[in-house]
Formats: sequence, C-alpha cells, structure tokens
Amino acid sequence: MILFSSATPFRMNGHPAEYPGFMTDSSNSAMTDFHGGRRHIPSVDRLAGMVDHCALPRPVVIRLIREELSRIRDAVDSGSVAPESVDAAGRAGEAIRRFSRLRLGRVLNGTGVLLHTNLGRAPLPAAAADHIHAVASGYCNVELDPETGKRGRRGVYVEALLAQLCEAEDATVVNNCAAALVLSLRHFCSGDAREVIISRSELIQIGGGFRIPEILETSGAVLREVGTTNHTTVNDYRAAVSNHTALILKVHQSNFFMSGFVKSPSLRELSELSRHQSVPLMLDLGSGAITSTENWPGVPPEPGPASAMREGADLVCFSGDKLFGGPQAGIIAGKAEVVAALRRNPFFRCLRCDKLILSGLEACAEKYLENGSPESLPVSAMASASCEDLERRAKTVLAGIRPGKMDIAVIQCTATMGGGTLPRAAMPSVALEIGVPGWSAEKVHRALLHGCSPPLLTRIDRDRILIDLRTILDGQDSLLTACLNQLATSITRTES
Ligand SMILES: *Cc1c(COP(=O)(O)O)cnc(C)c1O
Repeated sequence: MILFSSATPFRMNGHPAEYPGFMTDSSNSAMTDFHGGRRHIPSVDRLAGMVDHCALPRPVVIRLIREELSRIRDAVDSGSVAPESVDAAGRAGEAIRRFSRLRLGRVLNGTGVLLHTNLGRAPLPAAAADHIHAVASGYCNVELDPETGKRGRRGVYVEALLAQLCEAEDATVVNNCAAALVLSLRHFCSGDAREVIISRSELIQIGGGFRIPEILETSGAVLREVGTTNHTTVNDYRAAVSNHTALILKVHQSNFFMSGFVKSPSLRELSELSRHQSVPLMLDLGSGAITSTENWPGVPPEPGPASAMREGADLVCFSGDKLFGGPQAGIIAGKAEVVAALRRNPFFRCLRCDKLILSGLEACAEKYLENGSPESLPVSAMASASCEDLERRAKTVLAGIRPGKMDIAVIQCTATMGGGTLPRAAMPSVALEIGVPGWSAEKVHRALLHGCSPPLLTRIDRDRILIDLRTILDGQDSLLTACLNQLATSITRTES
C-alpha cells in the first residue's frame, strides 16, 4: 500500500526521486534540455515515458498529458507564463493524479454520517459483495425458469423474500425509491382520475433535485394539497376526495422534523378513509427500517414497511440503500394486484434492476430473515455499536500511532444517520480529534483525503478535525492507523 506518496496511484519509471518534476519541485530533470519558447515544453512521449505503471489506461494518460501540454502552450503563447519556468512534468503529474482520484474506489468514512450519500450510502455486507461477485462473474439464472430451462421472470426470489420481510402480499424492485414513486404514480393516475391527495406538510425536497411536487407533475399526477404546513386532519383528506382522486399519498418527512403545534392523521385513520372511499393509499417511507431501531443509541423509533402494511396501506416504497442497508434500489411492497399491475406497466421495463443489484438485495434480505438480528449488516452494526466499544477502538488506534508533531485526543462526539433519514437521530459517538500545529483544519482534511490510500474523509467541526469511529467499518482500524502514521510522516517531511 502506498501512502502519502506524491506518485500515488501511479509510479514513474524507477524511483520517484529521479523525477522530482512530479513532486512540486521546479528544478526537475525533464526541463534540462529546454531552450527558449515552446521548445522548452517536453513532448507527450517524453512525459508519458515518465508515468509508467500507471493505474490509468495508457491512452487516458496520453490524453491527459496532451491536454495539459496544450494548456501550457496556450499560456506560453499568450505570454502569461515564461517558458523556462514551466514545470510541465509536475503539472502533467498533478493532472493525472487529479483525474485518477475520480476512479471509483474505497474511502474511509471518518465523518460519522452513516448513510453518507457522497460515499455511496449503505456499505454492503460481505455476503452481498460475495454473492454479487459469484453471480456477475459468469452466466446466471436471472431470467431463467429453473424447471424448464426457458425464459423466467427476473427477481422472483428476491421479491418473495422482500414481501415476507414487509409482511405484504407481494413486492417488487426498481432502481431507486424515486423511480418506485414515479412508477406507482403513473400506475394510479390514469384517465379522469389523476389527483393525488397529499398534505402540505409532506411536499418535501430530498437532497438535490428531488421535490415531491415535481415528481408528481412529471408522473402525470395532479397535486391536490390538503391541510397546512403544520396541521392536517383526516377531514381535510376526506373533503378532497372526488371522482378525480387517484390516490392518497403519504410521504415520510425524512430529512426534517416539526415540533410544536403539529398534527397529522394516523395511518389507521387514513387507511379507514381510503377503504370507505375506495381510494388507494400509498406510503413513501423513504428509509424503511426493517428491524426496530430501538437498540440504536440516540435514534428515535422509525416506522417500517411491515407496520405500514398492518395498518392498512395498499402500497409502500422505500430505498434499498438507506436503513435497509443494501444496494441502491427502490423496494415496493403491497397488495398483490397492485404490485402485479406495476410489473405489467410498460414503464417498469425502463426501471428494472440488473443482476448485480438483485443479487445484492437477495443477500441482504436473507440476512434479515436468517437470524432476525441483522447486526451483520454494516449499517445496523454501526448504528448499534456501544460507545465503550468505540472508545476501546479509538484507544487502540491511538496506541498504534507513532509519537510525532500531531496532537491527537479521544473525544465524545455525535454521529448522524445521513442520507436524508432520521433527522432527529443524534447518536453518541467517539472520535479522534486531530490537530497539527501550524496547519489549518482544512489543510489536515486535504492531507488525509489526498495523501492516504484509501482516502480518509474527516469531519471539520469548529475548526477541528474529527474522525468518528462509528463509521470506520469493521476491519478498517488498521487502515486508519496507517493513514494517521502517514500524516505524521508527511508533517515531519514538510517541517524538515
Ligand atoms: C430518500 C427518499 C427518497 C428517494 O430515495 P432514492 O432511493 O434516493 O431515490 C424518496 N422519498 C423519501 C421520503 C426519501 O426519504
């Protein structure tokens, strides 16, 4: 593993020190044969020869070098840069490093945000990763009827497991929860009945660009808002029902909460209304906690799909990669005839999941069903970890760090769920607080992000760098120790 090497993730021919141009040093050997004007700028081939053994495909390296050289030539031609002062090799190396950081790869999550959307939300359990690998590395039975060897329906197995978990008659899966909502709305809203009744308190925005009113509109639904921001009663819903009603939709507020003079009807009240008026009731749960969140410190109870079904919802949807702890997916569960109709909807074909997702979901659903205690799913394992345990791990990491010019302390902090879920969850947690005398928090943050392999994402909290142990996964403590030791080395190098 290479840590804090300026050559990461590519290496040059021979030892990097032979090519100081790839460091930030301007006195590099690639410059020695330049004589005035554009002739000072080395050729693509010459630069490419210096970035052998690169993790990037060679044609990509060549393109990046060409682009950088072209920028340099423009700068030289326009007179904004003196040719003899251009560190072409250094700039090309930096361009290559910057681009190679975009490649998907592991990141250590020190932020204390469990479902960090920028970090791929839920980390998968090993069983899911193994199952995906086994299924995807050869042919598989994704659409094979095992009895006849002819064409079968995809997802049959995982759908049965998900239905069982949700205590629903049937279930299906699409690409994400947003897609689940769009598909369902397109199904329910047809002909003259296009109105979707929804409380004004639930016209929410999730993340960037997911707004419930816009989703409704693009799905061919007509928004029928009822109640007020803080107060909606079952009578508000009742008064809105007409021949044009397609659906009553309840959307989990997900990423915010209201307190004070707040009222909304219970699910039971709404389901009675829906039955009396023969209008279907759908719930967008967002997160969909399969097991109780009761034993998670600092986490309020979260309604799950099974209780929604028991209380009379016709259909629920939730994300696969939030509290469920699986791959990105939109899980839909509910009445058999509705789910079957969704599958027949032509739009379903545009949203269907591929074998990678289906196999990941299968393995996660099996975990839930196997033992009822899904602590083997990383999200629940992280959420239920005790502070004593986190503190013990923090101290072990601390003990592995060479004494140096860094100040490190084990402190108490608060972790959050993230991913637009459980906004009230304030999970007591334990962090390593890192300070480097003379360095800003931002500088330490960047050093750990760019200098480590895998990169370590930290949290900056009031100009302090925190590494929350709750989101450092099982088995990653030694990587964290190595990262911090590399930081120590790099501080020493900078100072000497
Ligand atoms: C997160 C969320 C969504 C979107 O889920 P994706 O799987 O990210 O598409 C939809 N509705 C609610 C209530 C959510 O919390």
